Amino acid sequence: MRSKYKTEMNILDQRDISSLTRLIGDASNVTIIVHIHPDGDAVGSGIAMLAYLSSIGKDAVLVLPDSCPASLTFLTERYRDKVMVYEENPGQVSDKIMSGDLIICQDFNSFARAGDAGEKVAACSAGKILIDHHLDPDRSCFDLCFSETEVSSTAELLYNILMSLPEIGHDARKLPLDTATALMTGMTTDTNNFANSVFPGTLTMASELLAAGVDRDMILENTFNSYKESRIHLMGYLLDRCIRITPDGVAYMILKKTAIRKFSVQDGDTEGFVNIPLCAGNVKMSIFLKEDGDRFRVSIRSKKGISANRIAKEFFNGGGHELASGGKLMIPDDVKNAGEAAAYIEKVTHIFMNR
Ligand code: 5GP
Ligand code: MN
Repeated sequence: MRSKYKTEMNILDQRDISSLTRLIGDASNVTIIVHIHPDGDAVGSGIAMLAYLSSIGKDAVLVLPDSCPASLTFLTERYRDKVMVYEENPGQVSDKIMSGDLIICQDFNSFARAGDAGEKVAACSAGKILIDHHLDPDRSCFDLCFSETEVSSTAELLYNILMSLPEIGHDARKLPLDTATALMTGMTTDTNNFANSVFPGTLTMASELLAAGVDRDMILENTFNSYKESRIHLMGYLLDRCIRITPDGVAYMILKKTAIRKFSVQDGDTEGFVNIPLCAGNVKMSIFLKEDGDRFRVSIRSKKGISANRIAKEFFNGGGHELASGGKLMIPDDVKNAGEAAAYIEKVTHIFMNR
């Protein structure tokens, strides 16, 4: 076979689409929820579903476990009344979760990925649907599961689902424009603007959404070209002062609290930094650590043949995709103090790369 891609482009089972139509049809109050520290795919697929459900007259809300990065507020601002941030108002948002009659979980594979809000969802007796593209989903927790890893993003999977609905009939022009825009955003950010995880269907989706009127220039302006100037200086500092490349071909950068304060780093400001070291031919994996309270948040990217997912699971309390994963390093459970993180990375990556 010439192509490494699935030849069968229709990745969806029509019976699942019928079940989805029935579950949505029977529900009055729908809650959509995405993962903690939401990225473009989480917010994008979340707003896409919210805009679609609103367009068919459903009372729907989108729950973000914590705040939306500034670069994505162009998607949420029109839905301000329907987007709830759990961390900002846990009592009210948990009441909302508990009173809903259908919960749609997007862009995560287990409730633990949605933090405290995920615990409420787990405890709620409402019907639950999963729409996700990560490895190893907790299928038993859901009444209906759309899980597919051979897509760029949850946005792409949701695009296929929505296009299969009878009233859309595979005509992207029938999607609400806000849905189309949010789907294009999720796909664009999860592929790092068509650099990774691009499948034949990804390009079909992009083409059809462009033809349907999505303003891609506006999306790129907001997601990639609207950071504060301090991002440039922080990037320079990290690449000049923080980066280490081990003899095993592992590049790592550690962003500590002092630098976070110095460069006034906020959530989302370091998006994409982990990809930069992969431009060197000898670098096989890149790890980015950001200190956050009693932990480091960890981002991992790898090249073909090296599993970011496996190292994330084994050494960084996390997981994700084969070549793009994340996790955390707890202080003092995993490393005694922040100063020991570098030695920990050197040790575990040496073990991992020499198996
Ligand atoms: P990022 O590096 O962009 O934060 O995350 C890359 C991928 O790893 C995403 O697909 C994300 O869902 C996953 N990921 C990030 N952090 C965690 C984590 O703490 N646990 C798990 N299981 N996956 C994570
Ligand atoms: Mn995603």
